[in-house]
Amino acid sequence: MTVKSFHPPQRTLMGPGPSDVNPRILEAMSRPTIGHLDPAFIGMMDELKGLLKYAFQTENELTMPVSAPGSAGMETCFANLVEPGDKVVVCQNGVFGGRMKENVERCGGSAIMVEDEWGKVVDPNKLDEALTANPDAKIVAFVHAETSTGAQSDAKTLVEIAHKHDCLTIVDAVTSLGGTAVLVDEWNIDAIYSGTQKCLSCTPGLSPVSFSQRALEKVRNRSSKVQSWFLDLNLVMGYWGGEGKRAYHHTAPINALYGLHESLVILQEEGLQNAWARHAKHHQALRAGLEAMGLSFIVDEKDRLPQLNAVTIPEGVDDASARAMLLNDYSLEIGAGLGVMAGKVWRIGLMGHACNSRNVYQCLGALDDVLGRMNARVERGVAVAAAHKVLSA
Ligand code: PLP
Repeated sequence: MTVKSFHPPQRTLMGPGPSDVNPRILEAMSRPTIGHLDPAFIGMMDELKGLLKYAFQTENELTMPVSAPGSAGMETCFANLVEPGDKVVVCQNGVFGGRMKENVERCGGSAIMVEDEWGKVVDPNKLDEALTANPDAKIVAFVHAETSTGAQSDAKTLVEIAHKHDCLTIVDAVTSLGGTAVLVDEWNIDAIYSGTQKCLSCTPGLSPVSFSQRALEKVRNRSSKVQSWFLDLNLVMGYWGGEGKRAYHHTAPINALYGLHESLVILQEEGLQNAWARHAKHHQALRAGLEAMGLSFIVDEKDRLPQLNAVTIPEGVDDASARAMLLNDYSLEIGAGLGVMAGKVWRIGLMGHACNSRNVYQCLGALDDVLGRMNARVERGVAVAAAHKVLSA
């Protein structure tokens, strides 16, 4: 068999990520590959660090993209900050808090779990109680925007509580960065990681991270070596640290970094506040349409992430068949439920470049048709009009 070039179908990506990539980013990624120590590339890296500082709203010197997806940003934070024997309080209200626990344990630490129901936010009182009961805890870790449910926790308050108990903080902002406020310096976050494939409208495969001075001191003063050579910040800093002067650590994903640079230029052109407002507005429109059809959100209104809309699948509708019809007939991808939510909810993303009125109308129109054909008990012919009312207000 002769294998030919792969040409993927054109989709509209409205799941939990990856989301639609801005064509400007794809064009930037197709520019000539140059050396990762080429002075022109190093100049681009300095700009990239500056742009990331803007996205994270931080002056942290060590703000850079890890050369691998969000999970590697997560591992970078845990591998560098957790030493064997460290007690870490991990808040879990969905799938990704569970991965934090795994990370703590694989680093030789012990995880004290603060559990909240899936679909709810992390309860600050429970965190406070856990820290009072564990005065020897060194770190608090939580997910700001839980992609498995669409709940957004109050990062500022959780960090304040952690600091009151003299703990460092590790925050997952994979789904929040670029979509809702992430204010690293104002909220005093010590270590944070994100991903490029969600509200930054970029391709998957890079993980922006940022570390405070306090976090870096802990990394520099470790009594044991970081167990991962690749993720050891003490070594990575030789390439990404400081300005202008760089030494080889690993071969940087050159063209992927052009893409992230372009994505952050686009974010800066729009302005962070405007990007957050765009996500909020389109969420309200999508919400109006979904609720007009009779679908209900699983997260309380005040805690909802605009970029990740988790709604209950109407009774009697087969999850996989409905999503397959959306994909085959409309080339539209929405997300299935994860973990305990599998088969019960759909996760509809409105992330970055994909967060626009065309996608809101397309998704609502397609759902109306597919659910109608499946004889679901939903209100037909009203969703697009309800969304239009919000968007034209
Ligand atoms: N954390 C959260 C909240 C996520 O949503 C994801 C991915 O969806 C990750 C971590 C892992 O990121 P990646 O899949 O890029 O490794």
